[in-house]
Amino acid sequence: MEDIVWFKDLKKTDISIAGGKGANLGEMFAMNLPVPNGFAISAGAYKRFLDYNHVAKKIYSILQGLDVENNSLLQSKANEIQKLIVELKIPDDLKDKILEAYEYIDKNKELFDKLANKNLDIFRAGRELPLVAVRSSATAEDLPEASFAGQQATFLNVKGKQQILDAVKKCWASLFTARAIYYRIKNNFPHEKVFISVLVQKQIQSQKAGVIFTVNPLNNNDKEIMIEACYGLGESIVSGSISPDQYILDKTFLRVISKKMNRQEWMFKTDVNLKQTIKRNVPEDLKYKQILSDHEIRALGEFAKIIEKHYEIPQDIEYAVESGQIYIVQSRPITTLNKGEEREAEQVEKGAEKILKGLAASPGVASGKVKIVKDKDNLDKVEKGDILVTIMTTPDYVPAMKRAVAIITDEGGATAHAAIVSREMGIPCVVGTEKATHILKDDEIVTVDGTAGVVYKGSVSVQHKEEHYETVKTKVKVKTLVDMPDFAEKSAKTGSEGVGLVRLEIMIADGKIHPRKYIEDNKKEAYIDLIYRGVKKIAGAFKGKPVWIRTSDLRTDEYRNLEGGDEEAKEDNPMLGCHGIRRGLRDLDILRCEFMAFKQLHDEGLNNVGVMIPFVINVDELKKSKEIMREVGLEPVDEIDFGVMIETPASVWIIEELCKEKISFISFGTNDLTQLTLGVDRNNEVIADLFNEMHPSVLKQMKFVIDICKKYNVETSICGQAGSNAEMASFLVKAGIDSISVNPDAVNKIKHFVSEAEHGRS
Ligand code: PEP
Ligand code: MG
Repeated sequence: MEDIVWFKDLKKTDISIAGGKGANLGEMFAMNLPVPNGFAISAGAYKRFLDYNHVAKKIYSILQGLDVENNSLLQSKANEIQKLIVELKIPDDLKDKILEAYEYIDKNKELFDKLANKNLDIFRAGRELPLVAVRSSATAEDLPEASFAGQQATFLNVKGKQQILDAVKKCWASLFTARAIYYRIKNNFPHEKVFISVLVQKQIQSQKAGVIFTVNPLNNNDKEIMIEACYGLGESIVSGSISPDQYILDKTFLRVISKKMNRQEWMFKTDVNLKQTIKRNVPEDLKYKQILSDHEIRALGEFAKIIEKHYEIPQDIEYAVESGQIYIVQSRPITTLNKGEEREAEQVEKGAEKILKGLAASPGVASGKVKIVKDKDNLDKVEKGDILVTIMTTPDYVPAMKRAVAIITDEGGATAHAAIVSREMGIPCVVGTEKATHILKDDEIVTVDGTAGVVYKGSVSVQHKEEHYETVKTKVKVKTLVDMPDFAEKSAKTGSEGVGLVRLEIMIADGKIHPRKYIEDNKKEAYIDLIYRGVKKIAGAFKGKPVWIRTSDLRTDEYRNLEGGDEEAKEDNPMLGCHGIRRGLRDLDILRCEFMAFKQLHDEGLNNVGVMIPFVINVDELKKSKEIMREVGLEPVDEIDFGVMIETPASVWIIEELCKEKISFISFGTNDLTQLTLGVDRNNEVIADLFNEMHPSVLKQMKFVIDICKKYNVETSICGQAGSNAEMASFLVKAGIDSISVNPDAVNKIKHFVSEAEHGRS
């Protein structure tokens, strides 16, 4: 491997030479994009540096057997290694190569190529040394660099030979920061297999800079490009400290659809002498001006199209403009289009110590005593006011969850059981912390901030900005999700216009007995009664408003926890297994009992109850379910609302056939629809960042279904978690949906956004 590889000679597969960042810059350079010139000091050069100093063994022995949970020890070992590295000598020939490349970094590329190694002095004469950025680009065999992003050092505005060499050594040393060591150990990457390349790149002193999104992140429209611009360095946009100009372009013709100019009072600039970023006032005559010229907007639009086409997925691109010349400084895939509701706390008590971070699954703040429950037989130890800490909850945890003031889990995403139930109960919950059950200790006091997804040591005060929304009237109905009969009254008081989903699973788990066992023990009346009583409480609280009950959708791993559940099949992937209507149609007795409970309520005059069937993939499943409903004496659609959940891509693409079969309504289950469309396990915290209901592929399916349903006069609704997300609600209103179901705490907020969309204000 060469020690020095210029960007022009790198391509995206050269991660083992230049790390992900370097390979990516090389790839864009080769596309003739205006990437500031530079070179990679290869991973091979780093290995050679270690070998030359005979130091590798020593480094790895310092790390041998290190307990990374011992923070002060980790920190001192990390410092020891970094100090060792920066004091080592770079082999003379490598030093020469680095400095020679540095001197010619801002040369004319073609001319340099022609003359390279012939007459370098032509360039040397009478010129100042260039200003460069020195950045780390870690590499690991078989691994995308993204996993290491942000862990290693970067130095901006470096000038001078010794300064370059020092910065390079500091980058190499940064492979051993405490954070990087911790990450590798936790993820089982041997230190010996992770290397580092250092990129030296011409420093751009931008007068203007910003970000391009090749899909408009405001509405996830992939036919639009959004460009943000500010004066000075792009840092002020990235850190969110100013409101940038915003231009929306249509992607096909690059016409500007809208421009939003924001008055920018100050900007970041680099003080080259002080080597630091300083704030400067924006000159008076520029403050109110459109920052980018129309010509620049169009040129950036062209670059955006080229880059997105090349990488074949939406990109988030950073650019800078220096002396009228546009530079592309970075491009990476957009992974989070309008995700999550996570909000940082406005005020946290001084000295509060963050001990865990996870996903903000249910808002609110609560302090209490930790109770770690590793299996369900220990649930009794959770007393009123405790904080339940567990790997992941299942429906049979609900009684203990009701006693808890907050919940923390190791696993799971925003649609995991713990998240859904906590939101309904209105208690804070942080899921997917990966290690809560290991780090926390029984009886220790902690504070859970479910709004930000953070856990603090001790009882501390944490305040969030109040979000207050006036109650407004909307055309699109805003309903709630209610799974627990005891919480129905509370939910009805929110101003909700019905219930878009009742999951029977929690009622069933509350009964503690497997439905099959009721039937085998000749006690099917008891099962009917269990459902009847639970649904009656909910339908009673919402009298006169539609309440849609879903037939049971327990998965085999959840059934197994119930009495009589031992014989449940052990499926490798219960999420894709025998559940939903496919299960109901195999266990007809159970499905029949559930329908009988609905019939009983109907006969008593509670005819606001509707029924829907989950996880549909075939029209036949609908036909057969309707048959069973007829057998118990109710005519589907005519006598009782009968709907289908759209939560598999299969159900999306057969929507016309389902409509022809006659249904009252459909309801989007975006938790499963997203999981199945993106191939992202909704309960896997490791890839929770990829779980994105606003992904264009999910949105397009929903729009497709709504359009067809309109043709057949079938009502459309959503009951997945994404309905509580303002952007999703806004999208669905514009797409023509009839109702949206949300968590009880989000009713007013979503009504506000629905109203905004209805009035064309979003
Ligand atoms: C869904 O998949 O979006 C849904 C509402 O069903 P569940 O979360 O119960 O799978
Ligand atoms: Mg589902």
